[in-house]
Amino acid sequence: MKLRKVSAAAAAVVVLSITATACGGDGDKDNAGSGGGKTIKIGIKYDQPGLGLKEPGGKFSGFDVDVATYVAKELGYKPDQIEFVETKSADRENALARGDVKFIAATYSITDERKQKVDFAGPYLLAHQDLLVKADSKISKATDLNGEDLCSVTGSTSAQNVKKDFAPKANLQERSGYSECISSLQSGAVDALTTDDSILAGFAAQEQYKGQFKLAGLKLSNENYGIGVKKGDTETVNKINAALEKMVKDGAWEKAVKDNFGPANYKNEPAPKIGVIVK
Ligand code: GLU
Repeated sequence: MKLRKVSAAAAAVVVLSITATACGGDGDKDNAGSGGGKTIKIGIKYDQPGLGLKEPGGKFSGFDVDVATYVAKELGYKPDQIEFVETKSADRENALARGDVKFIAATYSITDERKQKVDFAGPYLLAHQDLLVKADSKISKATDLNGEDLCSVTGSTSAQNVKKDFAPKANLQERSGYSECISSLQSGAVDALTTDDSILAGFAAQEQYKGQFKLAGLKLSNENYGIGVKKGDTETVNKINAALEKMVKDGAWEKAVKDNFGPANYKNEPAPKIGVIVK
């Protein structure tokens, strides 16, 4: 009997270590830590300065990070109980459906198409699609893009709008993240980068790009940023909406705007009303 117990325990150890290895090492730390030990996984972008950025030292910064941290606090999680997970534009719906993250704050526009697959709290920011071009570029309107090389991101509304409306004859190159597009723009591999003005302003203000690029200032669309949650999780949607309302009321929203958009000189729209989508 005793022997059996020992071997069962040994087998359990083997299984655990295999699982830990398969996870790549980090996953097994999830519920370590002291106290309650609970953590929350939140999806953000890792490569969008001013919105969602994983800095070289491992620190996370940006407006979405501040909103996510505030919301997590209202849900009962301290900053050290948050585990940020990268959710690229094309992965967001699947990450929520799989339950990889509790919610996503990642420049995630609320659209009817996405609402078939996920639920949204918010909106918490209104941005607009725009173009980023080299400082000496002649491209100044969407139709100038036809025949030009344009970069955007797979799974984004930006790429979809270009194909459907703004410049169907542009040579659209889709990447997995906007940081890849900015490298292509700098090297001259593409003539323009298109996505939300909030994101483009953050890139343009980076030290290494200062003076090299300009935004066209076109307001090509309304991008109502929502917080994505798993389809059917109405309880979390309601809690997040209450948190967002509180964030605006107590001034934390305005502070997050100043801290994160101030350096990029991005002129954001006023705080949206919860549940009101600007079409
Ligand atoms: N807000 C747009 C979207 O949700 C573009 C930015 C992004 O790709 O995250 O698709």
